[in-house]
Amino acid sequence: MKEKGFTTQIIHGDRAASIEHGSIHKPVHQVVFYGYQTAEALAAVFQGTQGGYTYSRQNNPTVTALQTKVSALEQGEDTLCFATGMAAITATCLTLLQAGDHLISSRFLFGNTNSLFQTLSGLGIEVTFVDATDVANVAAALQPNTRMVFVETIANPRTQVADLAAIGEYCRQRELVYVVDNTMTTPALFLPKSVGASLSINSLSKSIAGHGEALGGAITDLGLYDWSRYPNINPVYRKGDPRKWGLQQVRKKGLRDMGASLSPDAAQRIAIGAETLTLRLQRACHNAQALAGFFDQHPAVKQVYYPGLATHPQHQRAQTLFRGFGALMSIDLMDEATCFEVLNRLRCVVLSTHLGDNRTLAIPVAHTIFFEMGPERRAAMGISEGTIRISVGIEDLDDLLEDFSQALG
Ligand SMILES: *Cc1c(COP(=O)(O)O)cnc(C)c1O
Repeated sequence: MKEKGFTTQIIHGDRAASIEHGSIHKPVHQVVFYGYQTAEALAAVFQGTQGGYTYSRQNNPTVTALQTKVSALEQGEDTLCFATGMAAITATCLTLLQAGDHLISSRFLFGNTNSLFQTLSGLGIEVTFVDATDVANVAAALQPNTRMVFVETIANPRTQVADLAAIGEYCRQRELVYVVDNTMTTPALFLPKSVGASLSINSLSKSIAGHGEALGGAITDLGLYDWSRYPNINPVYRKGDPRKWGLQQVRKKGLRDMGASLSPDAAQRIAIGAETLTLRLQRACHNAQALAGFFDQHPAVKQVYYPGLATHPQHQRAQTLFRGFGALMSIDLMDEATCFEVLNRLRCVVLSTHLGDNRTLAIPVAHTIFFEMGPERRAAMGISEGTIRISVGIEDLDDLLEDFSQALG
């Protein structure tokens, strides 16, 4: 059958697996374990010689349906879902890396991922943080024990765009596992497979769900990495098609053993949210572009960081790689001291962390999400006391313009 379009796939994909009773949504299988008629059947499922479900920490039909959907969106081979995006990232690192290995990571990183990588250092996994907007910095950090490179597509809050394609080519030549956190772009705007990524990670809690009522995360194996060349795959998982070995190890060691499983209820809510992903992102990107232009002209705003502005250092790259410039931006106020005043005047915009929501959200970065890292590291990341991060939603543009306009005074 001809490959269906992106949104058609999200909306009609489940039905290809003939959902029970013709239900239009995959039902919530609110169940922990699965019973079998014979001991032979039970053993066969455990040994993987027959498909089936055993225990919902490892697999659940509602979660499987979402995994299939995410795989289709990413054009990947297979996907594993987790309770949160952070659980997906943690499972990836703890199951594919070992003490003595080296990880090269972008310096411009989601705060909690940054904090997780500090934890890895304590476990004997060496991490080097580099400016990943230039592949030369990744190359300069290479060591004989380097196993993995981790980058985000558009960094938060400063919106740096990683040198995604060149890093992909570099990793391919060196046989490094290339992990791309696609949360900021989602497969609606960018396919990590197009730049040779091995694994794509999505926080499903953000734009993919969009409604802010369920947490989830996913790892998709894009089928490009030859796991038979990867030294850390346990002999137990070196069986069958080598393209499946990596995710099989993450499934067993990271999902079954670590246990941060996605609940079937959350899986269904996320799947329903995803139906409108493209529409929401188109609208949010459109709103964001208009707001970025507005802030750029506003006398109370010193600087705007948004990849859709021609003055953004990686504007050209973002234009080439992405189907839209995303819904996240940050602004620096001319007068840092007015930061809270400006935020307190907002009426429509919600003061909150989180991003990729239907609602527009604003947050003072230095006082909240980047508070723990202290003033020196903040300064190194170019974050001032007057930096406000804005995640643009799908409201009517005029209402957003009016709200920011009155708040900035
Ligand atoms: C939010 C976020 C995560 C973590 O996702 P959760 O579902 O909140 O755990 C990871 N990476 C990026 C880029 C994010 O924005």
